[in-house]
Amino acid sequence: MCASHLKKNLDIAILEGNSKAGAKIDISGGGKCNITNAKVKANDYKGDKEFINSVLKDFNNKALLNWLKKRGLNPVMKKESQYFCPNSAKEMTNLLLKAKGDIPIIYNTKVDRVSKESKKFRVYTNRGIFSSNRLIIALGGMAYPRVGATNKGLEIAKAFGHTLNTTYPALTGFTLQKEQFFMKELSGISLKAIVKVGEREIFSDILFAHRGISGPAILDASLWWQKGEIEINFLPNFEIDSIKSSKKLLSTALPLPKRASKAFLNTLQLEDKNCNKLKKDEWQSLEKLQNYRFAPAGRFGYARAEVMAGGVDTDEIDSSTMESKIIKDLYILGEVLDVTGRVGGFNFQWAFSSAKVCANGINNDK
Ligand SMILES: Cc1cc2nc3c(=O)[nH]c(=O)nc-3n(C[C@H](O)[C@H](O)[C@H](O)COP(=O)(O)OP(=O)(O)OC[C@H]3O[C@@H](n4cnc5c(N)ncnc54)[C@H](O)[C@@H]3O)c2cc1C
Repeated sequence: MCASHLKKNLDIAILEGNSKAGAKIDISGGGKCNITNAKVKANDYKGDKEFINSVLKDFNNKALLNWLKKRGLNPVMKKESQYFCPNSAKEMTNLLLKAKGDIPIIYNTKVDRVSKESKKFRVYTNRGIFSSNRLIIALGGMAYPRVGATNKGLEIAKAFGHTLNTTYPALTGFTLQKEQFFMKELSGISLKAIVKVGEREIFSDILFAHRGISGPAILDASLWWQKGEIEINFLPNFEIDSIKSSKKLLSTALPLPKRASKAFLNTLQLEDKNCNKLKKDEWQSLEKLQNYRFAPAGRFGYARAEVMAGGVDTDEIDSSTMESKIIKDLYILGEVLDVTGRVGGFNFQWAFSSAKVCANGINNDK
């Protein structure tokens, strides 16, 4: 995206560790790439809100969608606000490859370290040393190493004196403590719930998995959670009072998959009997399903995380150019920065917006 917006008279090369471009794009959004969202606000990101607002405003979601449409890609809206490729994520990768024109990508070139000597950057790779007057770090984060993600962006920024804010895998599942192991037995079941973490309330699907809990609501929660308890309402939009006089078995009356109802009743030590036979204290116990509090054991880890949260401190980056405030002619963009979006296309929007700001910065640099 950055290359396609750079002035044509510049001498540019893209170094890529993989044998192909856009590996993460190709596997994103369930193979359809969730490119952006109908509503993109700084509040959809973890990071410095002022910095994020400043970067997003030039090439925002509407500008991105127009840019794509002009090049023949008409993203389709799904799940109320998320834009996806109509057929395959490859459409996005191919569009970007075409948009960059004849700027070369030098594949299978793994960057190891970078130095700056007499105004020139020297980039040390497995295929020799490349030198340039300017350098853009767009190496992404550490999530999903199996498609080529590395920590080199962070390492290089750090070696140049940048501050790294604590990194952790995000948009991933939670592992569980012993008390919640019963959820593992619900593996494969998904249900709508409200997950509360700190100030955030997320209403979406939860998926019980063999490793713990996952699904969009949990992925989002993993971005905001530091440690301590989260709260889940497994019965959103449901009035427990509405079943109190029912003659049905409790496990049947609850709007939950039967296997889940039974497991929850079991963990609450409630007998599965006719609703109208339940006593007051049993109803009180059942209410816990609407504010079930527990502390996750941890997150699934980078191998299963969609993004890395944390990264290069944005106080050290000029939000109007993406240039480092520490090293002249060094630019840093995308996921390697301490800006992380929630689920819904916000991370690609960030990568593309910051890429465009960087291109503007270089194009306007005298
Ligand atoms: C499974 C999965 C699904 C996702 N789905 C979505 C989605 O639908 N919507 C969304 O908004 N976001 C999604 N994301 C997140 C999104 O892919 C990233 O936030 C985004 O790609 C970051 O862009 P970037 O350009 O900063 O980094 P990247 O896209 O990671 O690009 C970095 C590039 O640098 C290369 N590289 C890394 N290290 C080296 C090195 N040492 N030498 C040379 N090259 C190197 C990599 O091969 C890669 O090509 C998903 C992520 C994953 C893992």
